[in-house]
Amino acid sequence: MDQRASSLASPLAATRLEIRHQRGLSLVRRIWGPRTVGLGLGAVAVGAALLQVGAPAWLWPLVILNGLLWPHIAFWWASRSANPFEAEHRNLLIDSVSGGFWVVAMSFNLLPSVLILTMLSMDNIAVGGVRLFLRGLVAHLAGVMLAFIALDVRHQPTASLATIAACIPFLVVYPILIGVVTYRLSLKLSQQKQELKLAHERDPLSGLFSRAHWQQRLEEEFARASRHGRPSSLLLLDADHFKTINDTYGHACGDEAIRHLGHLIQVQVRHSDIAGRVGGEEFAVILPETDASHAMRLAERVRDALASSPLPFNAEQYLTVSIGIAELSSSIESSPQWLEQADQALYAAKRAGRNVVRLAA
Ligand code: GH3
Ligand code: MG
Ligand code: MG
Repeated sequence: MDQRASSLASPLAATRLEIRHQRGLSLVRRIWGPRTVGLGLGAVAVGAALLQVGAPAWLWPLVILNGLLWPHIAFWWASRSANPFEAEHRNLLIDSVSGGFWVVAMSFNLLPSVLILTMLSMDNIAVGGVRLFLRGLVAHLAGVMLAFIALDVRHQPTASLATIAACIPFLVVYPILIGVVTYRLSLKLSQQKQELKLAHERDPLSGLFSRAHWQQRLEEEFARASRHGRPSSLLLLDADHFKTINDTYGHACGDEAIRHLGHLIQVQVRHSDIAGRVGGEEFAVILPETDASHAMRLAERVRDALASSPLPFNAEQYLTVSIGIAELSSSIESSPQWLEQADQALYAAKRAGRNVVRLAA
C-alpha cells in the first residue's frame, strides 16, 4: 500500500472501529433491562424447583447472584470492555452455561428447564443468529457438565403446582418484553432507513433533489418519455455572476442566495416536475409532459419571480439566472445527451449576456 492509501485507510479503520464500539454499547444497553427482568423471573422459577427437589443450601446464594446481581455485573463488564459487542456475546454464553447448570440443579424439572433453555436460545438467536445459538447449545452442555461434577445428579422431571405457578410470570412477562423491545428496535430501524433515504435524495441546502437522485430521475424520465413518444423538457439554470455575491457578502450569504433561488424554483414548478440542485449554484428541472413552449413559460416565470424578490440579506440586491432548455426529441439517444443539449443552451444564454432563456437548437 502506498503512503497516501495507508493514511486514508487508517482513519477509515479507526472510524469503523468507533462505529462498531458504539453499536456494541447500544447492544449492551439494550440487553440490560430484559436480562434483569428475564433472569430475575427465571430465578423465581429456579428457586421454586430447587425447593421442590430439596436442592443443597449452598445453591441459594448462587441463585441470588445469577438472578439479581449478574445482570448488572454483565452490563458493567461489557460496557467497560474495549469490544462491547464481543463482551456481550461472552455474557450471553455465560447465561447459557448457567442455564445448563440450573437444569441439572433442578433435577431436570421439565417445565422450568425447557422454559429457561428456550428463552436463552431465543436471546442467543436474536443477538447472534444461528451461530450464537449453536455456541449457546455448547455452553448449555458445558453448564450441564459443570453441574454433573459439582452436584449429586437426580432425575425428577414432574413439576409441582408451586413450581408451575412460579414459572408463569417468566413465561408471560419475558416474551412480551422481548416483543416490545423488538418492536421498538424495528421502529427505530425504519426511521433510520427513512432518514438515510432522505439524506441521499435531498440536497440539504436547498431542499431540492440531490444531484445523484436527480440524475437517476432523469434517466427514468428519458426512458419513459422516449418509449411512449411523450413530450418532455429539461431546464438548466445557473445563477449569474455568483462569485460576485460570494465576494461581496461572504459565503454564508451566498448559501442564503442559493436557498432563495432553490425556493423560488420549487414554488414555480408543478408537483410532478422534478427539481434538483445539480451544482454549486446550478439547478435543473425535468418537466414531464411538457413541450418547449411551456418550458419556456416556466423559465420566464422563474426569471420574473427572481426579479420581484430581492435577496434575503439585502433588499436592494437581486439575483438573475441564465436558463437553457432542451425538449426531448427522437434524435436524442440518451439522458446524458439530453443534458448536454440543455447545457449547450445554457452556455448560449450566458454568451448572450446572461439573465436570458435559450432553447437548444
Ligand atoms: P456565471 O455568470 O458565468 O455563471 O458566473 P459565476 O460567478 O456564477 O460563475 P460560476 O457559475 O462558474 O461559479 C459559481 C460560483 O459559485 C463559484 C463558487 O464560488 C460558488 N459556489 C459554488 N457552490 C457554492 C455553495 O455551495 N455556496 C456558495 N456560497 N457558493 C458556491
Ligand atoms: Mg455555475
Ligand atoms: Mg454561475
